[in-house]
Amino acid sequence: MKLIFLGQPGAGKGTIAEMVVEKYGVAHISTGDILREAIKNETEMGQKAKDFMDKGELVPDEVVIGIVEDRLKEPDCEKGFLFDGFPRTIPQAEALDKITEISKVIELTCSEETVLDRLATRWTCKECSAIFNVKTKPPKEEGKCDSCGGVLYQREDQKPETVKERLVEYKNKTAPLTDYYDQKGLLSRVGTESTPQEIFSEVVSILDA
Ligand code: AMP
Repeated sequence: MKLIFLGQPGAGKGTIAEMVVEKYGVAHISTGDILREAIKNETEMGQKAKDFMDKGELVPDEVVIGIVEDRLKEPDCEKGFLFDGFPRTIPQAEALDKITEISKVIELTCSEETVLDRLATRWTCKECSAIFNVKTKPPKEEGKCDSCGGVLYQREDQKPETVKERLVEYKNKTAPLTDYYDQKGLLSRVGTESTPQEIFSEVVSILDA
């Protein structure tokens, strides 16, 4: 199983990806998580990426493609993988085609209003990147991750101005990927206005078909 989740920031990719990874035992590859980890560890790559991320812009293709090439060599990818947040541009998708063959692409869709509301109420674990939402998926203990006990925080790039820029980047550079994968006959769409459990069931029926 070699999957891609497409969708605007806040569409639910991370939350549903966690559920898919648990059910199917595939590797979860979030380029955003890898980049945030690199920033935390103050690596050279993290320093290159930080300015772009803080502004809500995409990190240059060559940086992200390099990350993915390295990540796919790790043994946990042998059982399959789910890309969450990659590819985000046509050149990234073309580079991926040269590395491996994708089996399915699912676009998670919701209104811009829902996206803005979700991002404003989203909290992320500093340690394991698990995602919570104060309204729809609150942690059992305030400010603390249910899975690892890590501290929950609001990401810097969830400020309204940065979110606007991320949505513009999505429209200009990432949205064309839906046509790219539709033409290859790989694309399915799932609306994400309902509960995570309902969205997950729909995703499972596509994956098991
Ligand atoms: P995410 O956690 O997927 O929302 O990603 C957070 C930020 O990391 C994005 O706004 C980009 O700046 C950067 N990023 C993550 N994945 C990619 C990618 N595939 N291409 C370019 N930039 C990316």
